[in-house]
Amino acid sequence: MNYIVMDLEWNQSYSGHMGEHPRMPFEIIEIGAVKVDKNFNIIDEYCSLVRPRIYKKLHSKIRSILNYDEYDLNTKGRGFKEVCNEFLKWCGDDYMFCTWGPMDLTELQTNMDFYYMPKLPRPVKFINLQQIYADKASGKDKRSASVSKLEKAVSELNIPEDMPFHSALNDSKYTALVMKAMKPKNINNQYSFDLYIHPSDIKDEITDRHNNMYEYITRTFKTKQEALDDPKVSEVRCYKCNKKVTKKIKWFANSPSSYISVGKCWHHGYFCGKIKFKPDNEGYYIVKTIKPIDKSGIEEINIKQEEIRERRKEKRHNK
Ligand SMILES: [Zn+2]
Repeated sequence: MNYIVMDLEWNQSYSGHMGEHPRMPFEIIEIGAVKVDKNFNIIDEYCSLVRPRIYKKLHSKIRSILNYDEYDLNTKGRGFKEVCNEFLKWCGDDYMFCTWGPMDLTELQTNMDFYYMPKLPRPVKFINLQQIYADKASGKDKRSASVSKLEKAVSELNIPEDMPFHSALNDSKYTALVMKAMKPKNINNQYSFDLYIHPSDIKDEITDRHNNMYEYITRTFKTKQEALDDPKVSEVRCYKCNKKVTKKIKWFANSPSSYISVGKCWHHGYFCGKIKFKPDNEGYYIVKTIKPIDKSGIEEINIKQEEIRERRKEKRHNK
């Protein structure tokens, strides 16, 4: 298997929302990628400009960072469908997308949908190098992990900056160099699921164990309550042995869009369950994760729960 480290450049309406096409708010104008082997060496590269069809004038913000302009796009670019088909063929049969953040894969699929191209085979897994970098930079304290720009990672890792940024090919090369410099262990296990299309049916739901966690991505429920009433959503299983266990802290809303709980397995210790509600057109689908947690993490959850209780009490008194 090869890694396809991909980077895209896109343009948007020059006149803001008014001139925006609802099916394609961002139009891809360049696809760049490098093929990376299992030792993280670059073995091939792909690059092509795309001739825009919807937003023919570059947005001023975008024009200012690019190393090319409308003239280059119109003379050197080709139609999106042609370029995208060529690119996917270049990727080969056995590959994993690697990107700096989740946006590039979303925009690639939005543009493919705009041209009614066949969908990528699901589920789409990818390696989010921005997230891996953030987790690594924050060390053990994963709760403080914050994502950073590619330029920042390149400079922090002392990678020579001898190519201009904001060209899709150069940025994909820099991303591959960051990947190599991080020397990630078990990288094949550190994938994320792309949620551009989430399961529509119970049979498409995703249940997976990877990267020291359990993950469950559901179909759509009409309401949050309907989701919480579903036994497979509310049950807590050990992230390692999959045994159903009793909860130490029952599910509670720690934010408007998420619930957390804590459980304990006699063999594998404490773990934290998280339910995230993701809105879609018909209601909500759920991304549930179960990950190991330490004593200080549990303490933090206890404090959070206490705060929420206090606030609720105050509200009742003030009525
Ligand atoms: Zn267990």
